[in-house]
Amino acid sequence: MLYSLQNPIQNYAWGSTTSLTELFGIANDQNEPQAEVWMGAHPNGCSLVKKDGSLVLLSELIAQAPEQVLGERISQTFGELPYLLKLLAADKPLSIQVHPEKSKAAAGFERENAQGIPANAGNRNYRDANHKPELVYALTPYLAMNAFRPMDEIADLFEQSGCTLLAEQVAVLKACQDSDHLCDFFRFILTLDGEQKQDAVNQLLDNVSGKGENDVARRAFSTVAMLAEEYPGDIGLFSPLFLNVIELAPGEAMFLDAETPHAYLKGTGVEIMANSDNVLRAGLTPKHMDVEELVANTRFVPVPAAELLTQPVHNGIVCNFPVPVNDFRIDIITMTEQVNVHDQPVSSAEILLCLDGAVTVQADGQQIALGAGESAFVEACTNAYQLHGCGRLVRISV
Ligand SMILES: [Zn+2]
Repeated sequence: MLYSLQNPIQNYAWGSTTSLTELFGIANDQNEPQAEVWMGAHPNGCSLVKKDGSLVLLSELIAQAPEQVLGERISQTFGELPYLLKLLAADKPLSIQVHPEKSKAAAGFERENAQGIPANAGNRNYRDANHKPELVYALTPYLAMNAFRPMDEIADLFEQSGCTLLAEQVAVLKACQDSDHLCDFFRFILTLDGEQKQDAVNQLLDNVSGKGENDVARRAFSTVAMLAEEYPGDIGLFSPLFLNVIELAPGEAMFLDAETPHAYLKGTGVEIMANSDNVLRAGLTPKHMDVEELVANTRFVPVPAAELLTQPVHNGIVCNFPVPVNDFRIDIITMTEQVNVHDQPVSSAEILLCLDGAVTVQADGQQIALGAGESAFVEACTNAYQLHGCGRLVRISV
């Protein structure tokens, strides 16, 4: 069976008020920030499907016949829809995040349960027992930070920033460029507080505007200035000196590894992730920050900027972005010729999201027409479906 999806919109304060309307015609009569559209069966925002004339939660449809809807393999491995697909439209920077590895998430979740910390408490680090690998596919220019810069670059940027209050720590990192010293330096910055923190941030801001000896430094410093408009005084203002600043072009994608700090700063994209809410924060946020737990879940391994993009694998009309996890698979299907009919075999529950054009999905005598921003759910028991039309689809499977 095929179902068209009705999806909840999350009006987080950082969301764009215009992007989802411009790209997908999603109405915004109240001029609210429209941060995310969720497609999936997550309890905090579950899609609806029409069944026998009435709307039911996708989670209910799955619960009624898990093996038929999810597929036997998925049902037995995960016991739920293992992924959550989002449209994400950021007008302001989101917090810097690290997601734990699966084993540490499971242990942390159990530990906090044993400590009796309520599930929705502000100081709760682990909301569930799962990891949260994610991949973002840019629809507009998409500015983000991801992974530690090479250590000599970090030391050089801190030197150029003229932050003399940190000179001693920077000199140590420069002399000993290894993970332990990067960890120490990162922890030192994140645990600055009171006057010390304020002075360091002020010194950074006094020095970065219009400065930088090369393109890398100018971009890092202009990112600091941009972040300062939204988060004045936040310790996360140092993050562009630690982390690669990258702008994805539309059509490019980036995988966000476990234990790797990252932040989305501005732009609209498609985000696919495992079904989890486990986030450890590392700045640019008024929310709870547990630095020791964060450090224990962070890999202090630099990644050169040139290695951040996920390289696509093309196969006819299907473009796959390979990911090192089994929670989801993402393909972009581009149909340029109106008359073509493409047969797509099905082996797991799928979500199809139309990005542009007009595409019809057909299976078992059913037909669903998708325009930009519209999505459909394909049950695993569907043998295959046919695609007609002209346009670009995101296909999520497992
Ligand atoms: Zn993330």
